[in-house]
Amino acid sequence: AALVGRRARSWWRWARVVGVVGQFEEDCVTPVWKLRQVVDAMVVEMHAGLASDGGSKLKMLLTFVDTLPDGNEDGVYYALDLRGTICRVLKVQLGGSGSKIINHKVEQQRIPEELVSGTSEELFDFIALTLKEFIEREENGQVPGSKKELGFTFSFPIRQLSVSSGVLIKWTKGFTIEDVVNDPVGTLAVGHYDDADTVAAVIIGYGTNACYVERSDAIIKYQGLLTDSGFMIVNMEWGNFWSSHLPRTCYDIALDDESPNRNDQGYEKMISGMYLGEIVRRVLHRIAEVSDIFGDSAHHLSVPFILRTPLMAAMHEDDSPDLREVGRILEESLQTSGLSLKAKMIVVRVCDVVTRRAARLAAAGIIGILKKIGRDGSGGVASGRTKGKPRRTVVAIERGLYTNYSMFRVYMNEAITDILGQEIAQNVVLRVSEDGAGIGAALLAAAYSSKR
Ligand code: BGC
Ligand code: MG
Repeated sequence: AALVGRRARSWWRWARVVGVVGQFEEDCVTPVWKLRQVVDAMVVEMHAGLASDGGSKLKMLLTFVDTLPDGNEDGVYYALDLRGTICRVLKVQLGGSGSKIINHKVEQQRIPEELVSGTSEELFDFIALTLKEFIEREENGQVPGSKKELGFTFSFPIRQLSVSSGVLIKWTKGFTIEDVVNDPVGTLAVGHYDDADTVAAVIIGYGTNACYVERSDAIIKYQGLLTDSGFMIVNMEWGNFWSSHLPRTCYDIALDDESPNRNDQGYEKMISGMYLGEIVRRVLHRIAEVSDIFGDSAHHLSVPFILRTPLMAAMHEDDSPDLREVGRILEESLQTSGLSLKAKMIVVRVCDVVTRRAARLAAAGIIGILKKIGRDGSGGVASGRTKGKPRRTVVAIERGLYTNYSMFRVYMNEAITDILGQEIAQNVVLRVSEDGAGIGAALLAAAYSSKR
């Protein structure tokens, strides 16, 4: 009888676990028809955001960047790349006349915790000092007197007033600085420098965003503002995209409710590195509430953001037969011990569901951009076909979630083919741009300095 009782308890426990996971999976599904709805919603919101400020949750910010580096720039340029809590300084040496980048050097500095929530003045003093020291080292102390061209890239939303000035709209990603100065634009610049078929850039890292080359006459809200080149790069701030077609679960809703930026960055909260581990943590926490499969460690699962996305990726990609890596990571971050193989398999399953959804939604966003600019092959010459042949289209992509998380990359590319079909998808190239944002900022400084 005791044995029967134990078996029954065990059966019920697994039934509850399977119930939670099954429901979660069901709520996260992204069949192609749903992805196409997301694509179309993205297009609609892009139009709305271009029509008027506040017309959409997609801000579609003007960048005033209407020149892209073409490979003829030369000289030495510096750039500052402020992202997350890291400040990077770069030096780029260009050789002119199509010779491309001769050399580049990067140094990075973690921004001290207290500055992340301090005044912007302190933050910028710190950044300026970091830059000054870097340049002094690079130029062997010969800084005074020589004028330097500096590109600046910032991974927060900026309302730009010109190519060289702007106002910060809102600190995202946990920054709480109160006053004032974006990064995919740099990625696009370097992407275009390397490959002239580059029309858009996407950042998928801790945060997420995209920008693309838009015809200036399509930017209705700045009617009258025509650029010499006839185009301008638009910073979509796509992290803030929202549509009722996005597959949202009770965990996403709770995450949003408890976040400091409730109702904002809805798309980012489903796809970026800041949140993926946290969504997994929430589902595991729920499982721990209905079962004892995580043993004594369950209370650790109630700590927000305890499960970082890189660890999640490492667990997801554990291919050892006994899921040793999953066990080790959970032991380290949640102090679990002796988890059963079944419990570890559940964890991997949840990671898979979260990442697959994220990657597929991000892919739909990219196709949305291509559709908006007629590069999705949906018909005619204007949509990516020349004489019946699809036109090559490159999207520059950067940051860790895409570059370091192979399952994310695999799911994203798969979704692109699912949505576009094999023939068209072959002509859409997602090109990784290492350090693009920073180098791109320096390239923009170069492109603009030769224009002046
Ligand atoms: C910010 C964007 C930025 C993106 C990628 C988002 O949180 O709102 O401005 O481009 O992260 O770094
Ligand atoms: Mg980022």
